[in-house]
Amino acid sequence: MNVSDYRSEFAAFSSAIELAHYRHRAGFEPQLQTEPVYERYQDLFTRDAIEGLKLALQQLPESQETGRAGLNSLLGTARIGFLEAHAKELTDEYAHCQSSAQVEWDGGRVSLHSVPKMVANEPDAVRRRELMARWVDAVAGCNDIRAARLESLHESARALGFDSYRALYVEIIGTDLEALALRTDAFLARTETAYASALRRAATRDLPGVSFEELQYSDYLFFQRMSRLDRFFPAGDVLPTYAAAMSGLGIHVEQQKNIHIDAEVRPTKNPRAACFRINAPDDVRLLVAPVGGVYDYTVLFHEAGHAQHFGWSSRELIKRHPEFMYPPDHATTEGYAFLLNYLFLDPLWLREHLPNVSEERVRDIQGCLALLSLHNVRRYCARLRYELTLHETSAVRSEHLMHLYAQLQSEATGFRRSPQLYLWDVDDGFYAAAYLRAWAFEVGLREHLRTRYGRRWWAERRAGDELIDLWNTSSRYTVEDLAKHIGFGEVSFELLADSLTSAVSEE
Ligand SMILES: [Zn+2]
Repeated sequence: MNVSDYRSEFAAFSSAIELAHYRHRAGFEPQLQTEPVYERYQDLFTRDAIEGLKLALQQLPESQETGRAGLNSLLGTARIGFLEAHAKELTDEYAHCQSSAQVEWDGGRVSLHSVPKMVANEPDAVRRRELMARWVDAVAGCNDIRAARLESLHESARALGFDSYRALYVEIIGTDLEALALRTDAFLARTETAYASALRRAATRDLPGVSFEELQYSDYLFFQRMSRLDRFFPAGDVLPTYAAAMSGLGIHVEQQKNIHIDAEVRPTKNPRAACFRINAPDDVRLLVAPVGGVYDYTVLFHEAGHAQHFGWSSRELIKRHPEFMYPPDHATTEGYAFLLNYLFLDPLWLREHLPNVSEERVRDIQGCLALLSLHNVRRYCARLRYELTLHETSAVRSEHLMHLYAQLQSEATGFRRSPQLYLWDVDDGFYAAAYLRAWAFEVGLREHLRTRYGRRWWAERRAGDELIDLWNTSSRYTVEDLAKHIGFGEVSFELLADSLTSAVSEE
């Protein structure tokens, strides 16, 4: 196999996929059009391609570390592509099932995907529950197709010679997932008391009329909406706040021609901020349609973290190794996304970037966001534990799995979830593990920046320069590698636990 030809094709494929997603999300295409792209580049994901990459890897000497890391990454992506190619029809069927499902409400019918937002804006707990119950029923209507798709992915993993889908991903990510789950189990235990008491206080304040013992997923959706904080986060200030934040680090977003901010109003544009590597680092697009509210702000900062990472990636490196721009391990880029996202957990940063907000309100905002973050990390700990079982079994249509899912989620989050969601609430490819590693990396990186540049590290140009140096390496390194290179040693779930525990605790 000619590896450099393969790389060019891979780069072209990856750009085309990103462009298809961008065009759909930006409101140019009503339907997501990835099928023709997969068809055009199907040779990238055949058994021959996989064998060719394996052979190339065997032939490359151990000393060529970057070349080997690149081939490993390409091999991982080729294997994932092989699985996806075989599940393609089921994936389409599933998308169709989801988009055509409807829920009856208030005398009309609403689409499945609009329900969570309606629940989040429904102040009446009884109505919330009823709407959510109908949504769960509709979601469960696609469980058969979900199960079939998962069975197909599992079977393809075994066809590639792995014991299970789980074993395949241990190989692709290069992470011992069971060892990771032991560490995240310990995180759950370490944060349990602080989480429960912070949640109890917050529920008393924000979820009146709902008993703490009876909290449900619908209550969570309403709670995380935080509509009472809307007036401090007006839609018009999102982009100026982002520009001000970056300029503290010496980065002037209005001069970043390679990071194009698409803020145009289009009726069919998806309002959630998103980032696309169209032809990175030269063409990165940050899609925004500000609606205001704290969630809108934090999502934009998260996506901007991806954009900065992609946009500052070395052009030379990506030309030789496009796989470092589109790796199968997402932890590195998620780590940088969380770094910008979590500026909102820093009271000092909030004070400087939210004008006319009282000291008491800053503490309120910081406490709420810290609690939501701790909730999310705990939720993903439960997800990882569950997915380890789900992706090792050959029987995914199982009562046992349904109950395991609901039990782990309810225990970790304090909000009850329906067992029916056991196949809906799963991302492909152990994304949960990537997020968890990214969270633990981010807190170490933030601590490092703070030690080196002071409590206001985000207002220091030199901190920006150090980040730019890191972003330059794109996703060449895993978060575990980076932690060693930067000098803080290991990614630590203890540090993550202690940081979030103290952030949610009352002084
Ligand atoms: Zn992300």
